[in-house]
Order: sequence, then C-alpha cells, then structure tokens
Amino acid sequence: MIWRTGMTATSGTLFRLAAASVVFGILAGTVQAQDATPAKQLFGAAKLPTQSEAVPIGFYAKGCMAGAVALPTDGPTWQAMRLSRNRRWGNPAMISFLEQFSGDAARLGWGSGILVGDISQPRGGPMITGHASHQIGLDADIWFTPKPAQPLTVQQRESMPFTSMLDKSKFLTVDPKRWGSTNARLVMQAASYPQVERVFVNPAIKKKLCETWSGNRDLLSKVRPVYGHDEHFHVRLSCPPGSSSCQKQADTPSTDDCNSKALAWWFTKEPWAPPPKPDPNKKPVKPRQVMLSDLPKACAAVLSAPARSEAEATYGGGTMAYSERAPVNAAARSVDAVVQPPPADVPLPSERPRN
Ligand SMILES: [Zn+2]
Repeated sequence: MIWRTGMTATSGTLFRLAAASVVFGILAGTVQAQDATPAKQLFGAAKLPTQSEAVPIGFYAKGCMAGAVALPTDGPTWQAMRLSRNRRWGNPAMISFLEQFSGDAARLGWGSGILVGDISQPRGGPMITGHASHQIGLDADIWFTPKPAQPLTVQQRESMPFTSMLDKSKFLTVDPKRWGSTNARLVMQAASYPQVERVFVNPAIKKKLCETWSGNRDLLSKVRPVYGHDEHFHVRLSCPPGSSSCQKQADTPSTDDCNSKALAWWFTKEPWAPPPKPDPNKKPVKPRQVMLSDLPKACAAVLSAPARSEAEATYGGGTMAYSERAPVNAAARSVDAVVQPPPADVPLPSERPRN
C-alpha cells in the first residue's frame, strides 16, 4: 500500500477508525432515538416525501410509502380539506384516481365535485391521530359534503364541520333528510372503478344501499360496513400492478354481502356493549406503541431518505392553484386542534369481524 501523503499506515488506520466511530456514533444515536420513539411520531414529523420512485411498502395499516406525490389543494372538481394536517400525500395511482373520480362525481350531480379529507402523511406510516390505516398512500377519505361552487378558504377548510348521514336519534339509521339517491350514486360510482378494492361506509349506509341500490349489485361487495364513516367514506385502492412490496388484502366476498353475518353483526348489541370493567387486582396493561421495528424493514430507509422539494412533489407540476396552499408554519401544524374526537354519545365498538 502506498501512502502518498506521508501518513503512516498506523495513523491512517487510526484516522479511519476515528472517522468511522464518529459516523457510527451519529448513526447509533439516530438508531437509538428511533428505537425509543413511537413510529407515529417519527412519521408524523416527516414534512416532505422521499425523492425515490413511488413505492407502497407493507400493509394499509402497517407500512409506509416512498415517492409520494401531493394532491393539489385545488382542482377543477376537488378541494383538499384540513390542510394543516399535511395528509394529502399519496401514491400517484391514488392522486390520479381522485382526479378522475372527482370529475365523475361532479357529472353525476354531486355539487361541483368532492372534498377530499386525509390521504397519507408525506412518507405514510402510522399517524399520531385519526387512523389505523392510510399508511401506504392507497387510502383516501371523501366527505359526504359536496364541494361548493364557491371555493372554500384555507380557514373554512380547517373549521367546516362534518355532516353525519345518520339520524342520531335512532339506532344505526340513515337520515333520509341528508341521504339521497345522489349519495348512493356517489358511493357506488367510487366502487365501480377496477382499481378500487374497498369502499368503507357506516353499517347503516351499507344497509341502506342493500335495500335500495338497483344498479350493479355485485359492486356492493366492495362496500364494506365499518364503525364511523357516516360523514365521510373511505376509498381503498388495490396494490398497484408490479408493486411487490405492497401487501395485498384478502378478497372481498363474491356476492353483494347484504345478508352476511358481518353486516348483521353491526345491528346486534355486541359491538356496542361497554367494555368489561377492568379487574382492580390486576395492573392495567399499557397498550404497546407501534415502533419502527414493527414496520417493514424498508420503512427505516424511507424515514431517513433525502426529501423531494415541495414543488417537485406535487402531482401535475403544481399548476392547479397550488400557490393557495396552507401556510407552512408551526401553528397551522397543530394537528390536535383540528382533529375531532368521536362524539361522546356514540359508544365505540369492541371487536368486529375482519374484512
Ligand atoms: Zn379513512
């Protein structure tokens, strides 16, 4: 080995060892911090997506996303809501789906288009508030309130209340004053695209569709009943073709699923029974936090990968009123201020059949 700088082999080795230990020390520090911090905080702190190509990694409720793009805050037939949450990032397949669906929604008479709620965080992953899924950029919430003709201001998008489609004076019943045939057509339109795998709605809404839908009944199998989802519905896309790191969900039933146990279960007492009283002699078990090590291995790399600039990350080049985006400042990012807890008078269900 030739040492042109006159450095001896020993001093060179020491230098490299020292440099390596500094780098290792920094990495170890990062790893230790990541080890101790719940994954939702790590992913919640990421403000921009990675530079890499779009890859959904893992499962809808346990994963992350590389190369996300943002839904522009304003399009011809959509507006993104609750901008301060910074959750309008998705797989390009989801963003182009929302563009297509919003146009179709406007054409079928749903106001001037759709209001889009949460998609995913810039790098996906678990969220500090609000959702179990939405982690890989293939889930999106659509409000059961049409986009008004007059664009909503950033402030209105933060504060506009949700409108439930249920009659809260009755048990699990759709309110006929709020739910009409256009609502039904909107949900079934969402279910009609081949790339849409599931549409989650409140069990009362699924029941109503079962009773009234006279179009293609096979599409009702994609419409899945789940708690909540009475002021918005949730669209889930299948893993895009060729994305081997995206974990596929089990198939939906092959029938309309209107007479299934899964739907009937919601109308029994079981889901609404109060949880059993904790045993006073037992130490309460703290629920375990989801850590980075619980997610697919590639999610650690997603978290530490270089960021793409905000302008580059906007789907379609940011031409659609992207300049009207919410101010990026700490106050606007106070997520808890805008997240609405479930109403106290609605009991949370215990367990439910998984589908
Ligand atoms: Zn959702």
